[in-house]
Amino acid sequence: MMSDAPPILEVRRLETVFHGRRRILGIPPPAVRAVDGVDLALTSGEIFGLVGESGCGKSTLGRTVLGVQRETAGEIRLDGKVVSGVAPRQARRIRRNVQYAYQDPGAALDPWWSIGATLDESLRINGIGPKAERDARISEMLDRVGLSDDYRSRYPHELSGGQLRRVGIARVLVLRPRVLILDEPTSGLDPSVQAMVLQLLRELRAQLGLTYLMISHDLSVVERVCDRVGIMYLGRIVETASARDIFAAPQHPYTRALLASAPRLDPDVASAAAEIAGDPPNPAAVPSGCAFHTRCAYARDDCKTVTPTLDASGDARKVACLHWRDIAKGAAPTAPPI
Ligand code: SF4
Repeated sequence: MMSDAPPILEVRRLETVFHGRRRILGIPPPAVRAVDGVDLALTSGEIFGLVGESGCGKSTLGRTVLGVQRETAGEIRLDGKVVSGVAPRQARRIRRNVQYAYQDPGAALDPWWSIGATLDESLRINGIGPKAERDARISEMLDRVGLSDDYRSRYPHELSGGQLRRVGIARVLVLRPRVLILDEPTSGLDPSVQAMVLQLLRELRAQLGLTYLMISHDLSVVERVCDRVGIMYLGRIVETASARDIFAAPQHPYTRALLASAPRLDPDVASAAAEIAGDPPNPAAVPSGCAFHTRCAYARDDCKTVTPTLDASGDARKVACLHWRDIAKGAAPTAPPI
């Protein structure tokens, strides 16, 4: 569902850095560059999957786009309007078009509040009223997510996992955003409920003209649902391409290794990929050059000193790898050392 329209969401050279508290009489802990120079552009109506190991910075990137986490550098644009570096009140008003669906909607709901009161609170704190308008919006959104109006008087503990997901989606969509950040939207769900949630998200996207930034470690979900995918490693995007191209022919050594560990893969792709060696490095001490060089089977001397940029190929794929760049220029591919 791609179009030629300008990006609805664009981030340029985005950085989010966490500085630790200075200890008394001690050296301040090193800063963590959770998001380190990310460029992204989402077209209206598309589903963009952000994939990577825990701690790679994908959730921090989502929270920075939302405005919950302040960016350290770079620019965020929504519908062409810059929302970074402007006064917080103005930024919040513009960023109402972006909402975040949290991973565990049950934990995000107040157990003492009925579903109706929870949805009404979302509208009230965003200054939406009067009450009749809020009631109409709540009824409409409950209907859209497949829950009857009776659910207004129910409490979170009375709902199943699937119903809680529906309420979590209704809670953010009742604000009528244009971009929805979905943080692990199907984690912890049975396969049948997972399929139901994904189908609901597809229907809502079509009905409401939504754009999704989907954060997930579940590659089978990303493969099924996303139009494009970005692979993150230690705060940086190392490969981006259409979902079809990523899953059919991953190029970056990290992408290949990540996909090799997924259960639902083309066996040819899996067998051609190398396993990831070792654990992810400490994010407060990111390796020099290519941050993946300590685990990469293709690493060579210059990988320790040269930071690869995201280079484009003819098919709109971009890869940040010195080895891949040389192959793209015509060098003979080499096998990883045994
Ligand atoms: Fe591996 Fe070097 Fe490519 Fe990094 S730049 S992924 S270390 S080959």
